[in-house]
This record gives sequence, structure tokens and C-alpha cells, in this order.
Amino acid sequence: MLEIKNLHVKLEEEDKEILKGVDLTVEAGKVHAIMGPNGSGKSTLSYVLAGREGYVVTEGSVVMDGHDLLEMEPEERAAAGLFLAFQYPVEIPGVGNMNFLRTAYNAQRKARGEEEISAGDFLKLVREKAKTLKIDSDMLKRPVNVGFSGGEKKRNEILQMAVLEPRMCILDETDSGLDVDAMKLVADGVNALRSPDRGFLVITHYQRLLDHIKPDVVHIMADGRIVKTGGPELALEVEKNGYADILKEVL
Ligand code: ADP
Ligand code: MG
Ligand code: MG
Repeated sequence: MLEIKNLHVKLEEEDKEILKGVDLTVEAGKVHAIMGPNGSGKSTLSYVLAGREGYVVTEGSVVMDGHDLLEMEPEERAAAGLFLAFQYPVEIPGVGNMNFLRTAYNAQRKARGEEEISAGDFLKLVREKAKTLKIDSDMLKRPVNVGFSGGEKKRNEILQMAVLEPRMCILDETDSGLDVDAMKLVADGVNALRSPDRGFLVITHYQRLLDHIKPDVVHIMADGRIVKTGGPELALEVEKNGYADILKEVL
């Protein structure tokens, strides 16, 4: 479903290569986790997949469902079913959460040649999803993420994901800064969305999120590359011994 081959990326502003040949394939129905020390390029990978500005792909390819992702605008990627939950969700003053969600939802439908959903039907849909995620309806009325606590912001990202029902979900350190309860809620949200035709790329610095989201495959990223791939036991190894042993082996 998502195939990344030999991806090299540098910064637009300076001549600094950050991704140095990433190879990664995510199959439909699978949850892949990426772990790795700070600064290894995990967030950069998620940004490049989402189409964020400031990065230049110098080599390699990214194909999603047969489409060349790198040729697509960010909104085309979203319409094709790519979703990125950010490590630091942005606040959007003046834009109500509900309006924001409906605009995103309808843009996606429009791109697919489907009709817009009515305000009433959408309200019903969002309320249902919010309830299962234990999101207060008050949060739907407030401006996007403004004044939200860390946990509320992450939960709001999961709500967006639940509403948009993406094909490929990328979560970048959605667990960072969360207490155990909030993290469990995020994990529950992800688990509820697991499906045979949806893939996940879960980026996390720590193992604990993976106690709740059981990944099928675990990758270790270091110095701009995937340096080791294994099963869930790889995450436990990191938890126990840190990254040093693995990195000694491969770098
Ligand atoms: P991770 O998410 O694994 O912690 P990042 O992708 O955030 O790693 O960063 C990888 C490396 O690229 C780091 O050394 C970081 O400082 C550098 N980097 C990323 N984006 C920029 C930027 N816009 N300007 C300067 N350095 C950057
Ligand atoms: Mg980091
Ligand atoms: Mg990061």
C-alpha cells in the first residue's frame, strides 16, 4: 500500500541530508512502528510523506496505492487517504473545530467525486465518533486546538482520523507528553480504526505506546535510515537495553 524506496531528503535551506536512503513498505491491514533516537529523522519522514515544504527529495520514490506520492500536492495526498497526526498539533484561532472537520471531510469527498454531507448528518457522525473517543462535545465547539491541553490535542488528532477514515495513518509521537490514561485513549482510538484495508505507521520514541497498540512490524531508525526491522520483540529489546546495543550492531 505504501512503498518507500531509497528515500533521500535534504533541507531546502541548507545542504544537509536528513534522510539517507529510507526503505519501508507498509501493507494494508498492518501496523508498522518506527522507533529511534531523537534526531534520527522520524518526524522528517512523516513531514515528507505529508508533503510539507522545506524539504527536497534528492533520490528515491514513494508510492501509495500505485500513485507517485511525491508528485502530489498535500491536499491531493489527503484526498487519496493519507493522514498525519502531528507530534505538535497546531492551534487554529478563529476556526471552529466542527467547521474544520467538516471542511476537511467535504474536501476529501469532493476530491473523490462524492457529494458533500449535510451539516445535520455530519453533526451526527462526529458526535458518534467523539463519544467513542470520550471527547467532550464542548471541544467540538471551540477553535481548533486553542487552549487544549496536550492530551486534548492528541485526542483531537485521533478524532480527525476517526472522522476522515484515512487509508494510511501516520502518527508522529502522538504519545509524547501524555499521561498513561490519555495515551491509552489514543491507543484505543487507533485500535478501533484498525482494519484490513488500512495501514498505520506509528512513530514513537518510547516502547510504552506499543504495549497498547500491538504493532505487526517494528523498525528502528537511526541516522536517516531504517537500520533494523523485526517483530514486537524488537520494541521490548529497546525498552530493556536502549538503542545503544542495536546501533553498535548496525552503524
Ligand atoms: P526525530 O523526529 O527522529 O527526532 P527529526 O526528523 O525531527 O528527527 O530531525 C532529524 C534531524 O534533522 C535532526 O538532526 C534535526 O535537527 C534536523 N532537522 C530537521 N528539520 C530541520 C530544519 N528545518 N532545520 C534544521 N535542521 C532540521
Ligand atoms: Mg524529535
Ligand atoms: Mg520527531
